[in-house]
Amino acid sequence: MSPRKAGAKARYQRPKAPGPRPRSRNRRSARRSTQPGDLPQALWESMTEGVALHQIVRDENGKAVNYRLIDVNPAYEQIVGLTASSVRGMLATEAYGTSSPPYLAEYVLSSEMARPLRFETYFPPMDKHFSISVAPMEGDRFATIFFDITERRKTEQERERLLKELEDKNKEMESLIYVASHDLRSPLVNILGFSMEMEHTAGRLTDLLRGPTVPREVQEAAAHYLQDHIPTAIGFIRSSGQKMDRLIEGLLRLSRTGRAVLNPRPLDMNTLLENAVASMSYQTQQASASIAIEPLPACVADEDQINQAFSNLLDNALKYRDLRRPLEVRVSGRIERNRVVYCVEDTGIGIASEQQPKVWELFHRLDRSSSAPGEGLGLTLVKRVLERHGGRVWLDSEPGRGSRFYVELPAVSPDGS
Ligand code: ADP
Repeated sequence: MSPRKAGAKARYQRPKAPGPRPRSRNRRSARRSTQPGDLPQALWESMTEGVALHQIVRDENGKAVNYRLIDVNPAYEQIVGLTASSVRGMLATEAYGTSSPPYLAEYVLSSEMARPLRFETYFPPMDKHFSISVAPMEGDRFATIFFDITERRKTEQERERLLKELEDKNKEMESLIYVASHDLRSPLVNILGFSMEMEHTAGRLTDLLRGPTVPREVQEAAAHYLQDHIPTAIGFIRSSGQKMDRLIEGLLRLSRTGRAVLNPRPLDMNTLLENAVASMSYQTQQASASIAIEPLPACVADEDQINQAFSNLLDNALKYRDLRRPLEVRVSGRIERNRVVYCVEDTGIGIASEQQPKVWELFHRLDRSSSAPGEGLGLTLVKRVLERHGGRVWLDSEPGRGSRFYVELPAVSPDGS
């Protein structure tokens, strides 16, 4: 689209009554003499960023009260929807139809500090978001280089809205899980309690049937039920009840993890991991494993929850070992821009690629016949903890070689927060 066309199609209308303009001789001469750093004409014309050159306007006391547009490039015309010829020489308030000159404080600050400045802003008269860089120039002149970030901001806002919605849904689900699990507990306590009662009653009946007055055939027939059928049935009721109890306990833990108030602060991950490893010395010894912790960068997170997440990862590394080779576990970490990525690596049995997405599912165990204790909850908890921290967890694994679990968390910012 040519600048002229862009101007003609402008969505944004400047006010009808323009204020005083500088004399036309000045306006004409402004064009070539003021481009920042003698910006070549071709660059000025072809830049996709809008560029505008301005002059601060001061009152008789030297106080900055407005700024005047000296020149604008074609991209300005396209982005703002005003033609260069219509804005050259105008005061900002006239050009944009605002009661005060937009961002005057920022521009004056940049000028006075003789330092460039960048900010992002929403400009209501145009209903647009902009990223604006200010470059101070000679005297009271300055250039603004800007681009329209409305689409990006809308996408970000939509993403934030969806994340909030997801978090609300998660909270709702966790409350539901909490209530349901809590309410399932009491009937389960009854089932387990009465199964013990039945076992006790079966024992008493066995004793009574041993009495001398009971015919032998009755004793034999009853023994079949009392010593075989009934104890087997009670055994099933009890083990299923205990399994259900562990699952309910797991659900309650998951809901507690999701609802606990987070207290994020800079964490010394070396100490945290050393303590976690020390608390697993028994399992480590049983697995004849070696655990190495490399120097770890700090992150910002809730100590209890991160401790829980890393304990689950270490516990899994110790549980799913490959008996054909020694188990080595290594924890490392690196900083990537404003994030820290930790890695818990093991030389265990590994996980086939088609199975990998399933490990995060609630109560999903890849090998249901595994002798390793667990309910298929540990990694669901890890994922939930990371979600709550705005972090991520993912894995990279190969059967027969081992697994790497990566955990990404916010790094400590340079000011220590
Ligand atoms: P649990 O250990 O209680 O079964 P998790 O949610 O922690 O539950 O893990 C889910 C499944 O993922 C495990 O049952 C196991 O099959 C697999 N798994 C987890 N960690 C590892 C690992 N480090 N190496 C191999 N398999 C793993």
